[in-house]
Amino acid sequence: MNTELRTDITVEEICKGFQYSELEGKGLFGMGGRLVIQPEYQRNYIYAEAKREAGVIDSLLKGYPIGLLYFVKAGDRLEVLDGQQRITSIGRFVTEKFAIREPDGHERNFSSLAADKRAKILGTKLTVYVCEGAESEIKEWFRTINIAGIPLNEQELRNAIYSGPFVTAAKAEFSNSSKPILQKWKAYVKGNEKRQEILAEALRWVSGGDVDRYMAEHRSDPGIAELKAHFDTVIDWAGTVFQGVEDEMRGLDWGRLWRTHHANAYDPDAVWSRVRTLYADEFVKNRKGIFEFVLGGEKDTRLLDVRVFDPKETKAVYAKQTAAAEKKGVSNCPLCAVGHEANAKRIWKFSEMDADHVTAWSKGGTTDTSNCQMLCKSHNRAKGNR
Ligand SMILES: [Zn+2]
Repeated sequence: MNTELRTDITVEEICKGFQYSELEGKGLFGMGGRLVIQPEYQRNYIYAEAKREAGVIDSLLKGYPIGLLYFVKAGDRLEVLDGQQRITSIGRFVTEKFAIREPDGHERNFSSLAADKRAKILGTKLTVYVCEGAESEIKEWFRTINIAGIPLNEQELRNAIYSGPFVTAAKAEFSNSSKPILQKWKAYVKGNEKRQEILAEALRWVSGGDVDRYMAEHRSDPGIAELKAHFDTVIDWAGTVFQGVEDEMRGLDWGRLWRTHHANAYDPDAVWSRVRTLYADEFVKNRKGIFEFVLGGEKDTRLLDVRVFDPKETKAVYAKQTAAAEKKGVSNCPLCAVGHEANAKRIWKFSEMDADHVTAWSKGGTTDTSNCQMLCKSHNRAKGNR
């Protein structure tokens, strides 16, 4: 791979014929069409806050460096490998897409700046590394540079590494902010579509977690039929089984929940009524676990992190229970006491015991002292169910 450091390319050259897509929120071309600002492997232009965009212009006006830019030679074109955001900010300013606040307090767009300032911006020479090499080399390099701006996240890097028709189609489906259905998806999936986080989740679901293998296998597919069908299936299933939407549903591992439970029959009315009841239960500490708990037939109470007894209360129960046991000459663990083993008369220390719900929480038992007993640790573990 060849790299060449160029310091002769000016802002004016870069901005010649600058094209910006309002719809996609990204800079497309510069240098009279020869510079591809957003090649396939680039992330979507992340809308920098106005401050950040203005910061780039401020640097140009003050003569500060804006950092290295990396271009790749692709035939007679150049593609921006790193620096897309900075170039887009400059292009947007020069084409009057935003204004900056000048030291005198006035907001000015490019054409209303003083002539010398305009000339200074356009005449700024940028520092550009131009590289040329095989696609695989360039992508490996891209993985390692990743220096300026917001670091690429894992999915953005994968999109770079496995770029091709599959990634193009996947991005069109899952990172398009103008899709109305996105609102529905976001009831279940956490993340920012522009940072490819919805796509990452869809890929996790369809691949069962091995996203890299899946992307490598499907890299040259012309479309994303399976990925899309699987994602829609999971979302539709979640929306059918659970009739309502709660904040805690967002970000659950719906792919796994679907795999494990989609073959079961559910009565959506009964399911939602159970969800409502568990939401109202003051002993349920982990509401995120309610959905999986209900799907699994309400067996695994660990999912709900049911509230445990207060340590002060358990100490009082321990003292009372131990005093009574000593009087009878039996173990202070009621389950040891009824056994015939060596521990039948053993008095356990407080630290050797755990608090247990006499009537399990799942059977309506409450978490207060009237329903609390101390058991030795091995009996408590054996009893399990809260
Ligand atoms: Zn015991």
